[in-house]
Amino acid sequence: MEATIYKSTGVWYQAKTMDGQTWNARAKGKFKTHDISSTNPLAVGDVVDLEVENEGESSAIITAIHDRRNYITRQSPHNKRYHHIVASNLDQLLLIATLREPRTSQGFIDRFLVAAEMYGVPARLVFNKADVYRAKEMEHFAAWSDMYSGIGYPVLLTSVKEGTGMDTIRDVLKNKITLLSGHSGVGKSSFVNALFPGMQLRTGEVSDWSGKGMHTTTFAEMFDLPGGGRVIDTPGVREFGLIDVTRQELSHYFPEMRVVLGDCQFNNCLHLEEPGCAVKAGVIRGTITEDRYVSYVNLLESLQEKLY
Ligand code: GDP
Ligand code: ZN
Repeated sequence: MEATIYKSTGVWYQAKTMDGQTWNARAKGKFKTHDISSTNPLAVGDVVDLEVENEGESSAIITAIHDRRNYITRQSPHNKRYHHIVASNLDQLLLIATLREPRTSQGFIDRFLVAAEMYGVPARLVFNKADVYRAKEMEHFAAWSDMYSGIGYPVLLTSVKEGTGMDTIRDVLKNKITLLSGHSGVGKSSFVNALFPGMQLRTGEVSDWSGKGMHTTTFAEMFDLPGGGRVIDTPGVREFGLIDVTRQELSHYFPEMRVVLGDCQFNNCLHLEEPGCAVKAGVIRGTITEDRYVSYVNLLESLQEKLY
């Protein structure tokens, strides 16, 4: 029977069948996943085939994994050459950011958006804690809202504290599989608790004993929304991996740059000091904002550091 993985601890998986029954499942044998070096064979969101092991104990064996529509990864904390699959089969990514207490940096937002483009998953931005924004932050919000929605990323303003924007959020999440992401302190736990009132949610960290000392591990977990749709919470996962992105490719993941790339004089243009660069012309004309261009240059530098 077909089931979806809702929770993964690395050894045991919680999988749910179409009829809503939850199974404690274990994987049998090795699964060939994708062509990346991943440390986990199965992740939250994976659709699998189950064979009942013990009906009374709701235990089952995972015998196969269906092809993934998409998946996102982060770098393995133990070995930088490996990736950990965070979740798969997503309809959208939702980044919760804040402009105050604490302020999410634009670099962080743009890195997240580049990752979303790489994974091929639509992304949205939510600015939370609207109740503490002063005139200055509201101006800032208006500017970023124009900028990001202009390049295809819808932007929302919320206050979990006052309930502002939460109905819109519920509409956005309805009947979709959404992965929530955000810096610690932005109100992600408060957000999840507001979406699932009265539910006992496990958010936060799970400790385990590795033999080398105590360290904390975090697992993504999927939850069903009351009105249809599913949300994946990823405690502790702050940054997604930018797998195998080369310096040459980076501008393809900036949608407003992507559309002019064919107009650069050199087809290997990195959009730095090259003559006849359409991206720099766009910055001068104002079709590409300076802020996004700065993020591009910073990301390009960070990729260079990784390579050499
Ligand atoms: P997480 O680290 O992202 O999970 O953040 P938490 O949900 O733990 O929230 C961090 C702090 O921000 C807590 O003190 C929350 O009460 C507070 N917080 C969350 N949402 C809001 C909001 O909309 N407005 C204000 N003023 N505070 C909020
Ligand atoms: Zn160029």
